[in-house]
Amino acid sequence: MTIQTETKTYLNYINGEWKASDTGKTSDSFNPSNSQEILGSFQMSSANDLDEAVNAAKEAQKTWRKLSGAARGDFLFKVAAVLEEKTAYVAEAMTKEMGKTFAEAKGETARGIAILRYYAGEGMRPVGDVIPSSDSEALMFTNRTPLGVVGVITPWNFPVAIPIWKMAPALIYGNAVVLKPASDTAVTAARVVECFHEAGLPAGVLNMVTGSGSVIGQGLAEHPGVDGITFTGSNAVGKQIGRAALDRGIKYQLEMGGKNPVIVADDADLDLAVAATISGGLKSTGQKCTATSRVIVQQGVYEKFREKLLQKVAEITVGNGMEEGSWMGPVASKNQLENVLSYIEKGKAEGAELVHGGNRVTSNGLGDGYFIEPTVFDQVTAEMTIAREEIFGPVLALMKVETLEQAIELANDSEYGLSASIFTTNIGNMLEFINDMEAGLVRVNAESAGVELQAPFGGMKQSSSHSREQGRAAIEFFTSIKTIFIKK
Ligand code: NAP
Repeated sequence: MTIQTETKTYLNYINGEWKASDTGKTSDSFNPSNSQEILGSFQMSSANDLDEAVNAAKEAQKTWRKLSGAARGDFLFKVAAVLEEKTAYVAEAMTKEMGKTFAEAKGETARGIAILRYYAGEGMRPVGDVIPSSDSEALMFTNRTPLGVVGVITPWNFPVAIPIWKMAPALIYGNAVVLKPASDTAVTAARVVECFHEAGLPAGVLNMVTGSGSVIGQGLAEHPGVDGITFTGSNAVGKQIGRAALDRGIKYQLEMGGKNPVIVADDADLDLAVAATISGGLKSTGQKCTATSRVIVQQGVYEKFREKLLQKVAEITVGNGMEEGSWMGPVASKNQLENVLSYIEKGKAEGAELVHGGNRVTSNGLGDGYFIEPTVFDQVTAEMTIAREEIFGPVLALMKVETLEQAIELANDSEYGLSASIFTTNIGNMLEFINDMEAGLVRVNAESAGVELQAPFGGMKQSSSHSREQGRAAIEFFTSIKTIFIKK
């Protein structure tokens, strides 16, 4: 039986108004903890809806860019206040739409609020440099100018933090935004946009159009009215967006997959390494781009680490994220369920030893949900699929090495380069890892996930288009430099 906890139909947000799509079509959003439960429905929009949103953004940006940074920042402070008040409302949607536990969802919402406040303050920070001119009667300096209309395309795994960490810098630097959120979390996105609306953001400055990736996402990337596109999601889609942006000569920013390693050295604090491997690999059910996936352990501590890890993994409780005792929720969708289970099958078929989990969880009334046991493979080797491809689920691959040099070589043996951690108490090991690791986020004695919001975020190799999000680094993407020369 289908349970409808919330029958609301969520609308597009265009030019300050909530509007149904001209297609008249909607799609339902399901709860991965109980696939029979519908959270709400959202618009399956058309190219016309998108045109309307881009045109509204274009018009609104003309005035928005002329406000002072401080005035734009005031709006973001207000959005933060509204979101703070609505934390439970937004976090509940997240848990019921993509499955992360309510505690994690509230944590992510708090992160969104902190990002809004960070960028609100950014409106009053310096944006340029004075450059000494060789002409003593001239003043030469740089200023920043917004791109114009920025298209924001986001995934379902951080449905609050990722849209906010793109929209907040876009807005503070004077751009207008058209958001295309992931379909799996369109209700959560609508609830976030409600906060911008309630905070009184001027009409047209932020617009949201929901619908399929191929119509609305691709349409946004190819739209002649869009001046920059920022995307987080899979590599396949990211590359397509990058090509479309290149064809139009506009700026693009791509944050994509990862296959993040942790290295556990012979001299590591093993309890710390185990706790961080579990948290980094299995929180959010392994569905973080920075999730720990490959666990590379030096042979001196391999057996001991493995034993401690398996002991702790056995304590993990899997269940509906809205229930307090659940440490790990379901994966986000049927598609995710099938994908992760197929990787587990590949792991077994290619000779890895399954030492924990590996199955869908159907007991204790969880049968209608997309629950998977936390899964650990041993004896994983570099050429196996589970050591090479992003699984995006609760699966850890243990790999044994003799030396630290081998560990780093193995860690670098990937087309990805997002995040990497080492656990060691030796400064020499730390430095070798920091110098040689090919990753945008390099972490010592800390889990691979969890970068602070004021620090640059992004990857190397195929994980990223090599620009950086978050913190001050975001200014590089969301603005262009103007070099100004004034002669008296
Ligand atoms: P996805 O399938 O690439 O979707 C991401 C977004 O792109 C969604 O809004 C999607 O819309 C849209 N889209 C789909 N096809 C499109 C097209 N042809 N043109 C334009 N847009 C299109 O990725 P996902 O499954 O949502 O997210 C998981 C991936 O994101 C993983 O690979 C993960 O590593 C990556 N990720 C990376 C980071 C990072 O910062 N590096 C952070 C989080 C996640 P629909 O939902 O409507 O299909």
